[in-house]
Amino acid sequence: VETGREVAGAMNYKEHTVREVMTPVKDCFMLSVSEKLNFKTLSVIFKSGFSRIPVFAKDRNDVIGLLFTKDLIFIDPDDETPLKNFVQIFGRAVTVVWPDFTLGDVLNVFKQGKSHLSLVRDVNDAGEGDPFYEVVGIITLEDIIEEILGDE
Ligand code: ATP
Ligand code: ATP
Repeated sequence: VETGREVAGAMNYKEHTVREVMTPVKDCFMLSVSEKLNFKTLSVIFKSGFSRIPVFAKDRNDVIGLLFTKDLIFIDPDDETPLKNFVQIFGRAVTVVWPDFTLGDVLNVFKQGKSHLSLVRDVNDAGEGDPFYEVVGIITLEDIIEEILGDE
């Protein structure tokens, strides 16, 4: 039976922002596209426990795709397969949201059905040079659900 507070929590989550619930980039498990899928890398991936791993090229602001760990089941570590052969390059896959999007906004993005993980990108205009896009975190459906269930 839902109490009044639970109902209020389920309603309020929509007003919270991505920034409040995202996993900040410093805590994101990402891999460089230049890695090889050898025993060491596969062990690190396995130990991380994540099923979707952002893959970057130049640096962490240059995320080019996602690795789905379930795609790794037939990998032979001895082959040292280049990770780049396994990256699902964007286009169909990943959406990008702003840190000040509300969770309601993100849920609408997720509902469109591409992926349940979004990159959070912001504009960094702090320095002298031109402003640039910066990946500041990731947010998944799980983060939103946690907010709904925990927001009592
Ligand atoms: P699944 O439950 O579908 O196997 P998962 O456990 O890898 O996926 P989620 O359940 O979507 O991931 O998310 C759980 C938490 O982990 C969320 O807080 C999410 O932001 C975070 N998360 C997901 N992927 C990563 C990653 N690659 N690096 C760091 N944190 C991640
Ligand atoms: P522009 O500013 O010239 O429009 P952009 O770099 O901002 O280009 P978008 O048009 O915003 O690129 O993005 C196109 C799609 O490519 C995004 O929806 C996203 O999926 C992906 N994408 C582009 N650049 C990045 C990046 N640096 N990190 C992660 N995803 C990216």
